[in-house]
Amino acid sequence: QSQELSQARIDYHAALRALQEDGTRMVCSGKMHTDRLCRFDYLCYSTEAEEFVFFHSNASVMLPNLGSRRFQPALLDLSSVEDHNTQYFNFLELPAAALKFMPKPVFVPDVALILNRFNPDNLMHIFHDDLLPIFYTMSQYSDLDDEARLVFMEGWNEGTHFDLYRLLSNKQPLLKEQLKNFGKLLCFTKSYVGLSKITTWYQYGFVQPQGPKANILVSGTEIRQFTRFFMDKLNITREEVSENEEYIVVFSRTINRLIINEAELILTFAQEFQMKTIVVSLDEHSFADIVQIISRASMLISIHGAQLVTSLFLPRGAVVVELFPYAVNPEHYTPYKTLASLPGMDLQYVAWQNTKEENSVAFPDRPWDQGGIAHLEQEEQERILKSKEVPRHLCCRNPEWLFRIYQDTKVDIPSLLEVLRQTVKSKPALKKAKPASTVHPGRVREPRCQASVQGSNEAKLTVSWQIPWNLKYLKVREVQYEVWIQEQGENTYMPYILPHQNYTFSENIKPFTTYLVWIRCIFNKTLLGPFADVLACRT
Ligand code: UDP
Repeated sequence: QSQELSQARIDYHAALRALQEDGTRMVCSGKMHTDRLCRFDYLCYSTEAEEFVFFHSNASVMLPNLGSRRFQPALLDLSSVEDHNTQYFNFLELPAAALKFMPKPVFVPDVALILNRFNPDNLMHIFHDDLLPIFYTMSQYSDLDDEARLVFMEGWNEGTHFDLYRLLSNKQPLLKEQLKNFGKLLCFTKSYVGLSKITTWYQYGFVQPQGPKANILVSGTEIRQFTRFFMDKLNITREEVSENEEYIVVFSRTINRLIINEAELILTFAQEFQMKTIVVSLDEHSFADIVQIISRASMLISIHGAQLVTSLFLPRGAVVVELFPYAVNPEHYTPYKTLASLPGMDLQYVAWQNTKEENSVAFPDRPWDQGGIAHLEQEEQERILKSKEVPRHLCCRNPEWLFRIYQDTKVDIPSLLEVLRQTVKSKPALKKAKPASTVHPGRVREPRCQASVQGSNEAKLTVSWQIPWNLKYLKVREVQYEVWIQEQGENTYMPYILPHQNYTFSENIKPFTTYLVWIRCIFNKTLLGPFADVLACRT
């Protein structure tokens, strides 16, 4: 992969003329800076000023044209982390005429995707904040193909897993630092700026304590499309594992947050589940090997930590076992639980927490970022040492949280096996589990109602409808219909679940009354269709 920006592929003088005459053109999608993605022609970057530059000319376009609202607080988020004030994107403006007095622009001929990586030394952040959002941002725009140029503006060096970013495109990604090697004024012929947040499932606790995002929009299907792409790029074959070759993976940390009795844990699990147990760690295996191993595992066991994001690669039906140190409540830290529980991920998730302080080894004298508390006031140290649970907190430097999460743990194996028995529905061999259908019913067709009055107190309402149009092409195990009947003007309704395409209601139906009737179809008890247009029926 070449580091050069081949100027041969563009007509330099034509590009320069276009920039001078047309200036920069920007068209964005998104209403707010947090959901905005912009496409630019001739967006430039001054490596001296370390600023992006928008050149105004008679032909430039700036949509949205926000005026100074562009700085309240920014045009867009450059990383996939929502509204983080260190991740904002904006540009400076200049008239195109100023180009005459500026260094000669160097054009980037590739279609570029310009973004910030959020924390490229941490695997959870790498996958959740960068790789998945980049992959799906590229899927959204057809010219961001495998020749697209990724440009990372966060200012970090390559980081520990740069190879993973390289898989997304055939072109070598560029770091902010490298841009100056090309010249003082770089102009991206075509570029997209920002990342889609549509795949993210977790918020890290910058404004409220961490937890699943409020409105998760991704399912296991899209996650698995990504992992399939990724595994193909890593040259990993996707084979089925036969029943007697099933195995458990223990993902081990080797620097901190250790499992003290890992060997014992491995032996016991091998016995209990009659399976081979494989231990992997980031310093003894290549990432490709780890993915290969995890992609065929029946169970993945690890202490809470970024390495658990590799459960992305587990096969359907596998079990994720997340271990938590003493005083760390598993309910408060759920990035991996949320991942495993995404609809269609089809993973079983089990959390175990060490509840015995004597099985915990803490490191009060380490540096603060590895959980040390020696720098705190004596009183505060004592309070932390006495506390039995880290209270909910904001990211990222809460010393009590760091102190507890960086403890080593001796796992009480009987109690772990007990939660596993309670939670895991069957022997962890569900792998052949087929993905459940997610095809939703269409609207029921030709809804009709007929009313009849039996006397001054009795009336009947006969409602009928036709099956949704798509049902005749589907094999559905169970088809049901839901009917809501509401007396006009009342704000409650009577709901019914019915197996057939018509029904006569007589209970609670009054004569000379108008009823509103809603009907929808349900597949397999859970897949709800839309309601048909409401019927108004007068008895
Ligand atoms: N890491 C590791 N082994 C260790 C400690 C860390 O593989 O003993 C990895 C970890 O998986 C993550 C990165 O190093 O990708 C940073 O770890 P850190 O403890 O800072 O973050 P966390 O795992 O709590 O998200």
